Amino acid sequence: MHGFSYKNGSLFCEDVDLSTLAAEHGTPLYVYSAGTIIDHYTRLDAALDGVDHEVAYAVKANSNLSVLRLLATKGAGFDIVSGGELFRVIKAGGDPAHCTFAGVGKTRDEIVYALEQGIYSFNVESEEELRYLDKVAGELGMIAPAAVRVNPNVDAKTHKYISTGKSENKFGVDFTAIEELYERASKELPNIRLRGLQMHIGSQLTSISPFIEAVEKVTPLVLTLKEKHGIEFWSIGGGIGIIYKESLESGAVDWWESQPLEERPLTISRYGEELVPRLKGLGLKILLEPGRLIVGNSGVLLTKCLFEKRGSAKTFKIVDAGMNDLIRPALYEGHHEIVPLSEPPTGERFKVDVVGPICESGDFFCQDRLLPDFQPGDYIALMSAGAYGFAMASNYNSRPLPAEILVEGGTATVIRKRQTLDDVIAGEL
Ligand SMILES: *Cc1c(COP(=O)(O)O)cnc(C)c1O
Repeated sequence: MHGFSYKNGSLFCEDVDLSTLAAEHGTPLYVYSAGTIIDHYTRLDAALDGVDHEVAYAVKANSNLSVLRLLATKGAGFDIVSGGELFRVIKAGGDPAHCTFAGVGKTRDEIVYALEQGIYSFNVESEEELRYLDKVAGELGMIAPAAVRVNPNVDAKTHKYISTGKSENKFGVDFTAIEELYERASKELPNIRLRGLQMHIGSQLTSISPFIEAVEKVTPLVLTLKEKHGIEFWSIGGGIGIIYKESLESGAVDWWESQPLEERPLTISRYGEELVPRLKGLGLKILLEPGRLIVGNSGVLLTKCLFEKRGSAKTFKIVDAGMNDLIRPALYEGHHEIVPLSEPPTGERFKVDVVGPICESGDFFCQDRLLPDFQPGDYIALMSAGAYGFAMASNYNSRPLPAEILVEGGTATVIRKRQTLDDVIAGEL
């Protein structure tokens, strides 16, 4: 569910008319619903009632300071993947003691910074990294809290670029090698405090079964580690999927209730109902690392149609947003629902490609999709753009990064100014 819907024929975010925002601030423009972000966080937190847990928002999904601040004030922890993300969390008022640091390639500078800030845990992805962490901590006279990421070798059945829990992925340590690694670390690495175990099997999972499979498979291991090494937490990762195809429609409760039970996409409450009974007796603190679930359907990218180009084979709608603003379709074949900001008067649909202005054939938002009519000068919204949208934007083709707006009820605040051309060349000789 989310805060985007048509009211009297205009698409609104909470109580703000998106056409007005587009006209006032220009396009491309990212708009986020604060209410939706908070709702997702709060519902997930509540779904885990009954187990000692913490929701550590995966900062990489959307790292705008105002988004982080919003979550920090609700009590979220943060899962970070770089020193830069830790810097952002601290600037936004987040507590490093509630930060976990993931990623396969942490640098010495990043490790030192995170140690000095007192993060909760380094989530380590190899024995080499664990040994390096021990060495750096030793040089600083510090003890590094750590968890190893276990690769449980389950199939997340998601796009190959966002599947991470199989043996052939670069992530984590083989399930079968973990116990011996903890054994060696406890004897040989005096500057490491083995604090937990971590896993994350992939992203955009819309079925509960891979989560259940991974939790059931790893439970005996985590209990052994608790007994032998006194670990205190188990992070079960993020990866809960969201609705992309009928994103706008899924804003309403009715839509969810109308989905046939056996095909109903994974909901927050189902996630909780299935996992809480499996996790609650373990005597461990359970960490969750959701990114997409919290922010994905909390944001849209607004763009203006510039031209309609009728080719012999296809009709192209050329818009002012490009793959540099939203790369998911080009990178992961990601699907974003496209809706006009003015509600179409009829149900008539036309087969079109919506493409950006970038000099790449991959620069499209949809191909051969049936869409309601919109014309040059009209605005459209690319739905579900709150996660891995702005965070992955670049200056490719020397295009300034778009502005970002946060809506809270009837108030819209610019939380990141649109870049100027001077910003684009700043720092160059
Ligand atoms: C990316 C990532 C997440 C968040 O994934 P979502 O699919 O956005 O929930 C969580 N944990 C780790 C280790 C990640 O790399």
